[in-house]
Amino acid sequence: MLKNELYLLDILSIIIITKTILGGLIMKFNRPCSFDFDLTTGLSSSAVSKKRYLSDLKNMYQDEEARLKIESRLTYEYYDLGLPEEAGELSFGTSILYPGKVGNEYHMTKGHFHQRIDTPEVYYGLSGEGYMLMENMEGDVCWEKITPGNAVYVAKGYAHRMINTGTDPLVVFYTYEANAGHDYQTILDKGFRKICLDNNGPVFVDNPKWKE
Ligand code: MN
Repeated sequence: MLKNELYLLDILSIIIITKTILGGLIMKFNRPCSFDFDLTTGLSSSAVSKKRYLSDLKNMYQDEEARLKIESRLTYEYYDLGLPEEAGELSFGTSILYPGKVGNEYHMTKGHFHQRIDTPEVYYGLSGEGYMLMENMEGDVCWEKITPGNAVYVAKGYAHRMINTGTDPLVVFYTYEANAGHDYQTILDKGFRKICLDNNGPVFVDNPKWKE
């Protein structure tokens, strides 16, 4: 190998090592950093999304038979940037819920309570349209419209689920205290008290599958 080529290899090694060290530091979030999120698609070129398919939402829709037939359908994706789940940290990212229905029920996310029940969350609508369905342990149920430019405050104590009632992806930016934790099981066991059906447009009705 020529001396010049060896020199080039050294430079390349230094660049790769520096990038790895800097990358490691950034992933630890102990220095300021930034991520890109497309306003329309919600996708980021600097992070990898987590994907949820209809196969991940067993028994969550009314029409389980209809869901089974289209299990492989990508329903939503979101970014977990890996922020330390510690007090004082803020988790953030986008969530993208694709349009579609299972039977006459609009696409939705699993929904969850925060494990630390007194932890709120903010969702800001970037594109598409739909609802944030919320309910607390005492049985207070409400839903707020998600549209571009509208911020929804999920007050502490409220389970929350996104529903896409439009024809485009519903894209939101969210942030919450990183040590909130997620309780998906309560919703898996009980469901939400209301569901959102397409009856010439979205209507919220009592969930016949809801368990006390
Ligand atoms: Mn949450």
